[in-house]
Amino acid sequence: MMNLCYMDYVIIGDGVAGASAAERIRNEDSEASVKLFTDESQALYNRIMLKTFMKGTLPAQYTQMHDADWYEKRDIDLYLETRVEEVKEEYNTVISEYGEEYSYEKLLVATGGSPREYPLDEDFENLHYMWTMKDAEEIKESAENSQKAAVIGGGLLGIDLAAAYAENNCETYYLIRGDRWWHRGISKKGAEIIHRKLEEKGVNVITEVEASSFEGEERIEKVVTDSGEEFGVDAVAVAIGQTPNSDIADVEKNEASMIKVDENLQTSDEDIYAAGNMVDYYSPVLEERTVKGSWDHSEAMGEYAADNMLGKDRPFNFINTYGVGHFDVQFLAIGDWTGEPVEKKYSEDEYRRLFFKNDRLVGAVMIGFTKGQEKIKDLIQDKQKIKDKEALLEKSYWS
Ligand SMILES: Cc1cc2nc3c(=O)[nH]c(=O)nc-3n(C[C@H](O)[C@H](O)[C@H](O)COP(=O)(O)OP(=O)(O)OC[C@H]3O[C@@H](n4cnc5c(N)ncnc54)[C@H](O)[C@@H]3O)c2cc1C
Repeated sequence: MMNLCYMDYVIIGDGVAGASAAERIRNEDSEASVKLFTDESQALYNRIMLKTFMKGTLPAQYTQMHDADWYEKRDIDLYLETRVEEVKEEYNTVISEYGEEYSYEKLLVATGGSPREYPLDEDFENLHYMWTMKDAEEIKESAENSQKAAVIGGGLLGIDLAAAYAENNCETYYLIRGDRWWHRGISKKGAEIIHRKLEEKGVNVITEVEASSFEGEERIEKVVTDSGEEFGVDAVAVAIGQTPNSDIADVEKNEASMIKVDENLQTSDEDIYAAGNMVDYYSPVLEERTVKGSWDHSEAMGEYAADNMLGKDRPFNFINTYGVGHFDVQFLAIGDWTGEPVEKKYSEDEYRRLFFKNDRLVGAVMIGFTKGQEKIKDLIQDKQKIKDKEALLEKSYWS
């Protein structure tokens, strides 16, 4: 326990980044005042588990991680349904949506992002975007009550929506703009496995197709594609990326409006830190600026940011992982998915792609054959020069 003089900490966002920061501050400083604001109606829940909840195989209460007691016991002031509207950097205060003002000595912005939406002139009641428990409840209900649905977006979140509709016995058309699912991370060889696994679950995977318009009044009845194909639907769910919730703080941002921080997660304002999804930071491991979005990464970022707010010097050198658990084969992505790839397909269900920058391993994507996760992280952390990249694709290397 550190011996500090009384400090005021304010955290915006009770996602995993904000909640883990609050916990770390309290563990290290028993005297501090810690205020945690969320615009949601419930305290921290596990967003990853929402995919299982939407499929109908996990009751909602199992997604809850912290209840009111958890905050009370730790003397953390939780403000539910309280959106922070503004940060007044010059006065070190934040203003809530109710006009109340709270002062801070150190502030953490852990506000994540919101689903990117289509710029449409009308609101369709059966058009869904996914991020919160409220979204998940709506999608679950929609999946249970729909005969046919279209899911749009070939990324990590789109696959969860496709699985949710299909597992509720809804005829599901999964529309992917490119020639494969998650083109950022895997080649056609790897995507073939995922497409087959989706088809086995009853998902119709349709690639190289762009939804160009929605037809219907109040409800979408048809999705029309750029090639003129039409899909009659009862519901449409869309996952085409996120936009950062970064407007509230007047600190330096990148061209995509993500808050920029240094390796200690400090923004251009020395009293303001940022952590979690949609934060552009300098990674001492990758030796470049990067943005990552995963549960473990946001959790670690919250903890590191808290340490730095407490006055420690703790550069953020964490390696992220992201798993997809819908199938009988495991999918796991680690680290950075840009750079020079080498890859191998070992069997119908086993595939591995490794990414290198300047002869260093920076990331991996694995399907089926997921052995050696810790070794991969060590290699990335150690920054070893790898002469024979292909050797790392041999199974014997990881045994
Ligand atoms: C369906 C689904 C499946 C996923 N699957 C995986 C997976 O398998 N593996 C994985 O690693 N990750 C997965 N993720 C992603 C993972 O959940 C996120 O990376 C993680 O939750 C991000 O945490 P965060 O704290 O950075 O941001 P968030 O969880 O977005 O939290 C930010 C919080 O801040 C609140 N907020 C925003 N602005 C304000 C404001 N002005 N005032 C008050 N509150 C505000 C938001 O409402 C939100 O509650 C999944 C996400 C979803 C939705």
